[in-house]
Amino acid sequence: MAPKRCSRVVLVPCPFQGHISPMLQLGTILHNRGFSITIVHTQLNSPKPSNHPDFDFQFIPEGLSKQEIASFNVVDVILALNERCRIPLQECLIQRESREDITCIIYDDLMYFSEEVANHLNIPSIVLRTSSAASLLSRLAILQLKDEGYIPFPDAMSQDQVPGFPTLRFKDLPICNFGTPENFYQLLAHMCDIKTSSAVIWNTMDCLEESLLVEQQLKQFPIPIFTIGPMHKFAPACSSSLLKEDSSCIEWLDKQDPNSVLYISLGSMASTNEKELAEMAWGLANSKQPFLWVIRPGSIHGSEWIESLPEGFMETVGERGCIVKWAPQREVLAHPSVGGFWTHCGWNSTLETISEGVPMICRPCFADQMVTARFVSHVWRIGLQLENELERNEIERVVRRLMVEEEGEEIRKRAEDLKESVECCFKKGGSSYNSLSKLVEFMLS
Ligand code: UDP
Repeated sequence: MAPKRCSRVVLVPCPFQGHISPMLQLGTILHNRGFSITIVHTQLNSPKPSNHPDFDFQFIPEGLSKQEIASFNVVDVILALNERCRIPLQECLIQRESREDITCIIYDDLMYFSEEVANHLNIPSIVLRTSSAASLLSRLAILQLKDEGYIPFPDAMSQDQVPGFPTLRFKDLPICNFGTPENFYQLLAHMCDIKTSSAVIWNTMDCLEESLLVEQQLKQFPIPIFTIGPMHKFAPACSSSLLKEDSSCIEWLDKQDPNSVLYISLGSMASTNEKELAEMAWGLANSKQPFLWVIRPGSIHGSEWIESLPEGFMETVGERGCIVKWAPQREVLAHPSVGGFWTHCGWNSTLETISEGVPMICRPCFADQMVTARFVSHVWRIGLQLENELERNEIERVVRRLMVEEEGEEIRKRAEDLKESVECCFKKGGSSYNSLSKLVEFMLS
């Protein structure tokens, strides 16, 4: 049953690309199910209202200075958002002519101040987890290991298995080096601990993480979990890119052989230095495979864009390489010419890749990317992980292993099988499809 349009849901995204996208997708999904949608957003990375003419957008000032934003200290920025957005969100909701039409507030787990506001205004709240179940379990493991005195751990332990979570080695734990350890643990504790929200929405799928979700439920939550991933498949037309997509790469892809192109992107936040860039460039050139490479402006330390690519590289690769500032990634991954993705293993990129059955080269940079890389390469076995310092011969080898050798064929087969399982999840009668129906019923109850 679709609700009458007056049931309004207030969505509070965290202002980073990898968090805004799933929240806008959720907004689109709920709008299609009859809810009215209000997006409460900060000035930092504010979404484009013109892409969502049916949504109501409300701005709250977060008061971050240019220096704070440019610091790349994500932990402190998130803590500051939680301190400074609480009152503005409260006032924004109080000022609404009618608060009675608000069915609930759905907030990103990093924007935990919203839970307090919801309580204060007596509105139910639901938390959206935009990362994997494995990554939350790994965060709980960090908190426990810290209490038990294992963290910080010595280098000699980095290859050891994490007690109670043998898939991970200590080095895979998403311990952030931004800011002070105290701030990091404070953030971790807040995002793991849901005090009063009435449910969790998770952008993952049973076919990927069912046992972890069960473990999670047993460990932590007496409240329902709605597993409704991959959300982009329920909202295929939802456009949420903060940067302008360069679609010219699709014409270039059209000219390439099936499964021949390696797509490379490190997402919206990860960066690299000149030395690593040179190794990547020559590794790609020497692999002789065609490649589509997203180099985000500002993502190479000290460069505006690609001026620090090594001399002679462009001439060497010629038409075999295509470099863009930002790609229409979902379209790229669905393109028949794309046969592999060198990814930083951001959760959205991982879900988008799995949904298209594309095998991966995992090069995680920080946070939950390390956990996801481990699951991609060692649990689902749909990718190879590039570890250690980046080195051109090693890169050439791994590209050829994935793109041309028999080992790559086997990985591709597993990736294609997993794609089919994912399709079963989101198609009618599948676990995510059913979970979404239950979520709508729950929200209306
Ligand atoms: N993305 C894109 N074009 C690009 C690179 C990335 O549209 O050239 C999108 C990608 O499809 C994904 C998001 O940016 O939805 C990145 O989110 P993810 O969680 O993978 O990584 P993050 O940017 O948060 O590190």
